[in-house]
Amino acid sequence: MPDDLILDVQDLNKSFGGIQATSNVTYRMTPGELSAIIGPNGAGKSTFFNLLSGYHRPDRGRVVFKGEDITHWSAHRIARFGMSRAFQVSNIYPRLTTYENVRQAVLTQQKRTLNFIRPAARLAGKETLELLQITGQDKFQDVEAGNLSQGDKKRLELALALATKPDLLLLDEPTAGMSGEETTATMALVARLNQEMGVTTLFTEHDMSVVFGYARRLTVLHQGAIIADGKPEEVRANEEAQRVYLGDEV
Ligand code: ADP
Ligand code: MG
Repeated sequence: MPDDLILDVQDLNKSFGGIQATSNVTYRMTPGELSAIIGPNGAGKSTFFNLLSGYHRPDRGRVVFKGEDITHWSAHRIARFGMSRAFQVSNIYPRLTTYENVRQAVLTQQKRTLNFIRPAARLAGKETLELLQITGQDKFQDVEAGNLSQGDKKRLELALALATKPDLLLLDEPTAGMSGEETTATMALVARLNQEMGVTTLFTEHDMSVVFGYARRLTVLHQGAIIADGKPEEVRANEEAQRVYLGDEV
């Protein structure tokens, strides 16, 4: 694998009964990308994420992440190795405050990385505040997480994902169910995390204005297979992508 790849997926296949959910998918990412996987409902976007992150086992193919073949690793091990999936399983404790939620995630990460050295509570506090600030949640630090708006819960989940210091962030429909305003705020945040912290990010999204507004690379899935991949303007001009998915939306 070339050194400049963070993700190198080769010929990935997965079927459920008679349905080929992932079909010969070969996909590579370089560090720093902010990219989107798009396609109609049932195209295989979530399955692809599940295969990358160890929630499903592929029938065939290989996933290499940061130079390691992680194809048969557990989801837990993959997460610890630096691939973080926000918004899938909610990690929020609703009865704890926003601050306490993030601090808990920071302490968990510190225990992991510092081994037997007991983390100083002061350090965790500093990092917690930084994460709250960068995700715009510092103003809610004393609010019980269960009382946050839907958008703020999602941004809190982002802070929790960031606490694990991910090298690759997978966001499956990060703005699902959000108002236009919340969508813009969340995607602006994702773009800022990508720019300022250099977090390589892959997201799925059905709203084309969001996709074309934020992703620097698009990959179109159709019936489990990649039918187009490139810069947004290239994919917009791709006839097959237009026919099966984009239509006259763009
Ligand atoms: P998308 O996220 O693009 O909407 P999915 O990856 O969820 O698509 O689904 C792709 C196909 O695989 C669909 O036909 C779906 O019904 C099927 N599928 C996904 N997960 C499972 C599962 N756990 N068991 C059976 N079929 C599944
Ligand atoms: Mg899905």
